[in-house]
Amino acid sequence: MVGGGLAGCEAAWGAARLGVEVDLWEMRPANMTPAHETDQLAELVCSNSFGAQRVDSAPGLLKAEMVMLGSLLLECAAACQVPAGGALAVDREAFAAAVTERITAHPSIRLIRGEIDAIPPGIVVIATGPLTSPDLAAAIEKLTGEESLYFYDAAAPIVTTKSIDQEKGFWASRYGRGPADYFNCPLTKEQYEHFWEELTNAKVAAAHLPGEETKVFEACMPIEELARRGPQTLLFGPLKPVGLTDPRTGQRPFAVVQLRLENKLGTLMNMVGFQTRLRWDEQRRVFSLIPALAQAEFVRLGVMHRNTFIHSPRLLEPTGQLRKLPRVFFAGQLTGVEGYMESAASGLWAGINAARLAMGEEPLALPPTTMLGALLAHISNSPSQDFQPMNANYGLLPPLAQKIRNKARRNQALSERALKDMEAFLAKWQGLAPQ
Ligand SMILES: Cc1cc2nc3c(=O)[nH]c(=O)nc-3n(C[C@H](O)[C@H](O)[C@H](O)COP(=O)(O)OP(=O)(O)OC[C@H]3O[C@@H](n4cnc5c(N)ncnc54)[C@H](O)[C@@H]3O)c2cc1C
Repeated sequence: MVGGGLAGCEAAWGAARLGVEVDLWEMRPANMTPAHETDQLAELVCSNSFGAQRVDSAPGLLKAEMVMLGSLLLECAAACQVPAGGALAVDREAFAAAVTERITAHPSIRLIRGEIDAIPPGIVVIATGPLTSPDLAAAIEKLTGEESLYFYDAAAPIVTTKSIDQEKGFWASRYGRGPADYFNCPLTKEQYEHFWEELTNAKVAAAHLPGEETKVFEACMPIEELARRGPQTLLFGPLKPVGLTDPRTGQRPFAVVQLRLENKLGTLMNMVGFQTRLRWDEQRRVFSLIPALAQAEFVRLGVMHRNTFIHSPRLLEPTGQLRKLPRVFFAGQLTGVEGYMESAASGLWAGINAARLAMGEEPLALPPTTMLGALLAHISNSPSQDFQPMNANYGLLPPLAQKIRNKARRNQALSERALKDMEAFLAKWQGLAPQ
């Protein structure tokens, strides 16, 4: 296992629990990342919250599944919990100390302090995170091919398809070229001017790391910065209406926001060209001014920050294995999952699969109806040209056989199905779940 962060620790724990010997490499403290401050394993670099706990929320469902798979991190989190309403928040120092203690005390895990700068031999899980050291990043790029490794997120918001007001827009492709794959959200002149005003005055998020706000984005301009160049600029960029006729009026709209499908199920849509550094509350407020998105459910908001990740749809199996070299697994934020728990969960599953491979058994894909299974299926299978990291959300799950209109009841039913399917999966594959 390479990297003693959230994913690497879960991977080591999951593999050792299945009975294999693990070497876990961590480069700190000799080599620090720009965000870590200690030599502890599983250090939380920013917030101390792991998100909602309710099992009828996407983050809560993911946690429930991780518990079923024997998560070390959630065991440690429970012991270090601090009050945070419905969220699971921890005392970060106590949490990192608890994980470090459990890992170092495990008789089958050998913790080695040192940087890995080439792909190691044998069965390996690479979980070196968004701040992977430069030499290893170069080795990964060499292995996976040029243009397979990204160094920044430039993610646009994603909304659920069913939350878009279909009456206030239309499906079409520009100039009618190719299938009508885009949902177009028209704005009148007045709506556009109001939107532009709010966008250019909205509050921007603070940078995660020093220098991020200036360095990152020459090739991929945040929408608010583009807008600040002048009231007309967006009309020649992401909101350009040329080649689009609104079938309801027979006219070309004044401005158009385009949405593109984000997953094969067709349940999620990406706001084209809307990469942004606006604060999340501001994104919800300003983007809801687009009439078709007035009631939109945002399952991921836009971010732009430093983040090393691979193009998983081209490279990975849902087992976490590299397609062209299946002895090599990737896990954590490096695979294009987004967030503490998503990283940890992907590590846990990669560790379990790496152990299976070491024991001569077939690595497995989780049912796609589970939150973790759906997330891993998404990153290894996303059709998006511009692959960007993804967090746990209900839009990733295949729709229920029976339609439920009420959102809370639908989410509850999706969670119940996920847990039932995970239970059946673990009953079938005896030995994966902790005794
Ligand atoms: C600045 C920043 C802030 C973030 N804030 C949040 C947040 O508030 N909430 C949230 O949910 N997510 C956040 N994230 C995203 C992400 O969830 C976390 O980065 C998370 O820690 C990822 O887990 P990981 O195990 O993939 O990587 P990490 O936890 O970063 O672990 C990777 C480990 O690998 C080690 N390593 C790197 N290269 C090598 C090498 N060559 N050899 C050996 N060891 C190596 C590193 O030292 C590190 O310990 C943030 C990301 C960044 C960059």
